Amino acid sequence: MDTIQTLQQYIDQSSRIVFFGGAGVSTESGIKDFRGVDGLYHLKYKYNPETILSHSFFLSRPDEFYEFYQDKIVQPTLAAAPNTAHRVLAQLEQAGKLTAVVTQNIDGLHQMAGSQNVLELHGSIHRNYCMQCGQKYGLDAVSNADGVPRYHCGGMFRPDVVLYEEPLDETIITKTVQAISQADLLIVGGTSLTVYPAAGFLDFYQGNRLVVINLDNTSYDSKAALTINGKIGEVLGKIKL
Ligand code: NAD
Repeated sequence: MDTIQTLQQYIDQSSRIVFFGGAGVSTESGIKDFRGVDGLYHLKYKYNPETILSHSFFLSRPDEFYEFYQDKIVQPTLAAAPNTAHRVLAQLEQAGKLTAVVTQNIDGLHQMAGSQNVLELHGSIHRNYCMQCGQKYGLDAVSNADGVPRYHCGGMFRPDVVLYEEPLDETIITKTVQAISQADLLIVGGTSLTVYPAAGFLDFYQGNRLVVINLDNTSYDSKAALTINGKIGEVLGKIKL
């Protein structure tokens, strides 16, 4: 049996599938990842992406933060649409087979594809708020701004994303641990599994059907019942629902 047939059989036999993904899920939508071959880590910048997207950098150099954030995250996301991977995962949920998508992504493409239970470990660029008065705003507060976006009270907007050096949301952690520990099939894809604590949540899986679909090898490949080296959209696109 080839790997796609095995994946198909696992999916057919499961009713509490959880998908755990990262930036690689959105590369087929045109949004760059960090560590893949075309990722942002390979671009020449004064600082690496993790430094720029950190709490201390955001507070000390908001203008440089927003320049990078606009160019490399906000504008590419505005131009992106869900790909086959996002759509198939939404269909699996609608079919009553998938209980949660746990994502490290901040682009909102799973919801755009129709997924309902999306646990956003690192928040979303679509939610923003004023750091002074707390006023909430959508993405247009940032995407239409010239330079550092500010509310009329004078406060600076910040995206509701988890910057490096910041803790994850407790409610999302609880829901993630619950979903993964109750999953009968855990499909991991498009993530280097190098960002913690996010990657550590895989250890809560209690089943014996861990599937890893990724272009590069990951540290969880040796624990997986099935590894597929390929593009996640192409792989999931071969699944019959
Ligand atoms: P990463 O960049 O560290 O790793 C991406 C992985 O996906 C790599 O191993 C790469 O080989 C693989 N990959 C790339 N395209 C793929 C495809 N089409 N099919 C299968 N695999 C593919 O990403 P990460 O592990 O998510 O960690 C980076 C952090 O940066 C995360 O916190 C993430 O939230 C954030 N980030 C988010 C976005 C987004 O929201 N779209 C984009 C860039 C970075």
